[in-house]
Amino acid sequence: MKVLVIGGGGREHALVWKLRVSARVEKVWCAPGNGGIAADGECLPSDAGDVAGLVALAERLRPDLTVVGPEQPLVNGVVDAFESRGWAIVGPTKQAAQLEGSKVFTKEFLARHGIPTAEMYGAFESAEAAHRALAGVNYPVVIKADGLCAGKGVLVAANAGEAGAFVTRAMEHHEFGPGGNRLMFEEGLEGDELSFILLTDGERYAALVPTRDHKRVFDDNQGPNTGGMGAYSSDELLPESLRETITKTIVEPTLRGLKADGIRYQGFLYVGLMLTKHGPKVLEFNCRLGDPETQAILARIDFDLAEVLNDVATGKLKPEKLKWKPGAGACVVLASGGYPGKFETGKEIRGLDEAAKLADVKVLHAGTKRDGGKIVTSGGRVLGVTATGNTLDAALQKAYEAASKIHFDGMHYRRDIGRHGRQTSAAGD
Ligand code: AMP
Repeated sequence: MKVLVIGGGGREHALVWKLRVSARVEKVWCAPGNGGIAADGECLPSDAGDVAGLVALAERLRPDLTVVGPEQPLVNGVVDAFESRGWAIVGPTKQAAQLEGSKVFTKEFLARHGIPTAEMYGAFESAEAAHRALAGVNYPVVIKADGLCAGKGVLVAANAGEAGAFVTRAMEHHEFGPGGNRLMFEEGLEGDELSFILLTDGERYAALVPTRDHKRVFDDNQGPNTGGMGAYSSDELLPESLRETITKTIVEPTLRGLKADGIRYQGFLYVGLMLTKHGPKVLEFNCRLGDPETQAILARIDFDLAEVLNDVATGKLKPEKLKWKPGAGACVVLASGGYPGKFETGKEIRGLDEAAKLADVKVLHAGTKRDGGKIVTSGGRVLGVTATGNTLDAALQKAYEAASKIHFDGMHYRRDIGRHGRQTSAAGD
């Protein structure tokens, strides 16, 4: 099989890494890829959001299977374009990707099918209406930009001042782009968050191992939100009774609801949950794998990823094929100085070879590029140092040991990834 992976971050490096080891795979391309992915597959310059460009690329390469990493190409309709040409691709259609592309669409979907979620106060298309509505909500209120905003479109506002400032930024200053032109307000929920990701061919589904990510930039969940500073996966995150509740009250009603609405959903479905004292509730859906959760999850794969993804694209998923290494996976993100604010790029990265020598460790690249014989930084999140172990502590210890071998100017990372891994009630990441 020849496989094309769309995207160029840590998640896509993890996909390329695990696809390449399949005995069925003779070639992996990544569009656009990055400096580290280039060691595991062939990187091709391209714009991952440009559907016409991706069609032209696939026309030339003729991959047997395409796997989409990020949300933008899905929301832009890359799956529709490929499927209409008879090309196998893993991911939901443009219509199905609305589950991530529009918060209002999702809220209405959840309400229609009686799936537990935060109560919606309303959706507003003018700053004036939104400001007015703030007088009638309970605090904390959660404000969500309706469209895609690269992870910046949600605020949990403690009071009317904070909420009003966010409305102004989104609707008057257009700081989040067109995704911020419609805002939704909803009830603030309390509890621990959990990511539940499944793979479906539209008929059958299989759950991936559970994960939790760490969004804040500094230890103890201090500082601003980021794309994710680390993640871990351990079976202990999801006791069997909780798994059953999530399956019965959320996962299966969601898949049934999609069918009832005539929406065929194929690919990864990421369910972001809040484990409240009234049971699990949906915070959001993503129509693709999370980053850096993917790195911690895929490190635990004990099956042929190419075979299973090909089964998904051809409507023949066999859930029993998904087998996982017991124990845990952990991913520690090494970030550029200043990230998630302004940061410099082009810093030489040292120690990659030494880190790679450690057993059960894989250094996945997120924001790197090749510069002559060197690897240099090219993004905010630079590397995802990923390890597996028989226990969460063992996985974390290996990941941190590998991280300690790597250096670049300004590098910083959290020292507490997975620290609360066994305390469901104390994570709050
Ligand atoms: P979303 O993109 O909808 O997942 O929101 C991003 C983050 O905002 C989530 O991971 C939560 O930490 C937080 N969040 C979203 N919705 C709520 C809610 N209703 N109550 C409390 N926190 C929320």
